[in-house]
Amino acid sequence: MRTDWHALGFTKTRGWEARDRQADDLADYAGLASWCERRGILSGAEARAYRALALSRPRMAGAAVHRAHDLRRSIYDVLRHVGTGNTPTREQLDDFTARAKRYARLRRLEAMADGVTWTWRLDPGCLEHPLAPIAWSMTELLVSPELARVHLCEADDCGWLFVDGSRPGSRRWCDMSDCGNLAKVRRFRARKRQNR
Ligand SMILES: [Zn+2]
Repeated sequence: MRTDWHALGFTKTRGWEARDRQADDLADYAGLASWCERRGILSGAEARAYRALALSRPRMAGAAVHRAHDLRRSIYDVLRHVGTGNTPTREQLDDFTARAKRYARLRRLEAMADGVTWTWRLDPGCLEHPLAPIAWSMTELLVSPELARVHLCEADDCGWLFVDGSRPGSRRWCDMSDCGNLAKVRRFRARKRQNR
């Protein structure tokens, strides 16, 4: 089962609820390029080149960051809807499809030693292109069996999503060491209050 999708990780570049809404890994283009590098979407050299280009083309960089935020919002809207037990709406899917289509022409089939695979032809002069593999990851997630395993974290001040890879499908929090622990601590405190 695949639990680590670029599209899902992309929605976790910011907090969606009160606890950490201010934090945003994609606050500027350098943040976007660094995130893509950490995910393996860009090589170190590619990320450096994109960051350098962004410094010399601030308007293009601003537009790319804006588009990244829009893409993130579009992905999040669909996955949050799905993650709370709903089917994606026609409007949500159309909105996302329109965004994903921008990057479809960057796909390229490439021969490898053991067959043919899809790769990307990202233009090093286009700051928006690193978004392509992220959008594509969402198209793959939407048609995968893992979509049924997408859930919204139960911590009420979190808002992050996760793919439940546990066999019984009973995972409740995005991260056991973070939200899971917080929820446990709260329940423990509530019990103590009741016992008093
Ligand atoms: Zn959480």
